[in-house]
Amino acid sequence: MKYRMPAMYEEFHCLGGDCPDNCCIGWEVSIDEETAARYRALEGPLGDKLRETMVEADGEMQFPLTKGSCPFLDGDRLCSLHREYGEEFLCRTCREYPRFTNEYGELIERGLSFSCPEAAQMMLSNPKPITFTLKSDDEPVTKPNDIPAELFLQLRPLRQQLMGILQDRSMPVWMRAGICLKLARKAQERIDQRRIGSIAKLREKYSRLQVLEKQKVKLQKKEADGFSVRVAMSKRILQLEPLTGRWTGFWEQIRRSQKMELMLPHHADIEHHALAQLIRPREYEYEHFLVYLIYRYFLEGVYEGDVYWRVKFAVFSLLAVAELDLRMMQTLGGELPQAAQADLMSLYSKEIEHSPDNMAALKKALTGKGKFGRHELIAALRDLLDAE
Ligand code: SF4
Repeated sequence: MKYRMPAMYEEFHCLGGDCPDNCCIGWEVSIDEETAARYRALEGPLGDKLRETMVEADGEMQFPLTKGSCPFLDGDRLCSLHREYGEEFLCRTCREYPRFTNEYGELIERGLSFSCPEAAQMMLSNPKPITFTLKSDDEPVTKPNDIPAELFLQLRPLRQQLMGILQDRSMPVWMRAGICLKLARKAQERIDQRRIGSIAKLREKYSRLQVLEKQKVKLQKKEADGFSVRVAMSKRILQLEPLTGRWTGFWEQIRRSQKMELMLPHHADIEHHALAQLIRPREYEYEHFLVYLIYRYFLEGVYEGDVYWRVKFAVFSLLAVAELDLRMMQTLGGELPQAAQADLMSLYSKEIEHSPDNMAALKKALTGKGKFGRHELIAALRDLLDAE
């Protein structure tokens, strides 16, 4: 077997009771079947309490929240099950979080979710490009898989190329994101036309400097009204199911301020300019966020042959976080400390990535003939590019 993971993966340590957020607050924990069976069979008062607490919802077992928290979270903000019975007693989600695993036959990929504030802080605190390690052992592949081999062999290096473009610091991060959108769209066309082998030529084309230069020029052409796209994005996110009041509060503030901007049209440009100037020496924070999203989600597109919306999702997420950053800057008098950035990205990840309903709603918005096509996302990126 082969195992790929970000270089910092092994360094992660949970903050426990010192965590500023805590993964036992704000979302229901899904209990895997094996653990649920173990809890059901447990004798004694603990078994009784577990059986009383577990409920079935959407076809899976869960611990429903009590006053917004897991019912087993104690007064010290620690898990009482973990404290008394150890990690092995917990369900799979609680044992593994914030680690995630994607399996592709003999390749197992692991990573840390941005939704954990400590993982987010770890990823943002190092300005160097995120690197990955690949290890192997003699373990044989035991699980059958239905991965389309030809597509997998094309998508793996394509993802590498996308991450390489995202880490190319010779251009602004908004431009890197725009080029990735275009490359992913062309790859999707080839998948849809069953011209899988031609993705290799596409990769080769996008590795040439002249092609990248041409794409840069194209990205600077006006494609749509970026401001309208931002307003539509805010509205779409406000329609999603919120997990926390903090999230709703942020977006309500954005919605109100965008109405003001409609009366004062130059405000949007001034704000973008301020954000672009402030963030320029720290663009690597956005870069790390994009690399994380592409690493986590792009290759999963091998199963359905749907990679383009995954890149659109990463770009949409970048733009959404940039909007939140603008509001945060306003409340902090023009500052945006890295801790606030990590907090925002972590909150976004928690609210969107960890809600299957919200992910499905965004996928629909990004794949239908909705307001978030390529032209719209590029227009919103261009607003930030123009502000540099
Ligand atoms: S969110 Fe992360 S740091 Fe906080 S309690 Fe959960 S795993 Fe630990």
